[in-house]
Amino acid sequence: MEKNKKQQASYTAQRIYLLSGLMECGVCGSSIVGTLSKGQYTYYRCNNKSRKKACDNKDVNKEMIKQYVIDELLQRVFSEDALPKLVERLNEENKKLISERDEEKKSSQGGIKKSKKA
Ligand SMILES: [Zn+2]
Repeated sequence: MEKNKKQQASYTAQRIYLLSGLMECGVCGSSIVGTLSKGQYTYYRCNNKSRKKACDNKDVNKEMIKQYVIDELLQRVFSEDALPKLVERLNEENKKLISERDEEKKSSQGGIKKSKKA
């Protein structure tokens, strides 16, 4: 079969931009999207600049943004102050889920009483 040769030729590395569309350009307010520059460097770039060249905000290296987000997460989410609050919230959510599941169990054990009205 000659299929394998074609598949190799069409191979393109998939890049994931987790923050694409979540950030806002500080110059024009447009969304910031992930972009590939010169076929190898990954950047976050103002969408307005990317599409219409209507903004002159600088591109930001993807790795730099990633590191910034990780640093902020470490400081805000995993700090000694924030962690107990996070655990408390998680426990509350967990309790809620358990009680919801118990209610579902009860209603399903009670036969086919639950009926959906159209
Ligand atoms: Zn912009």
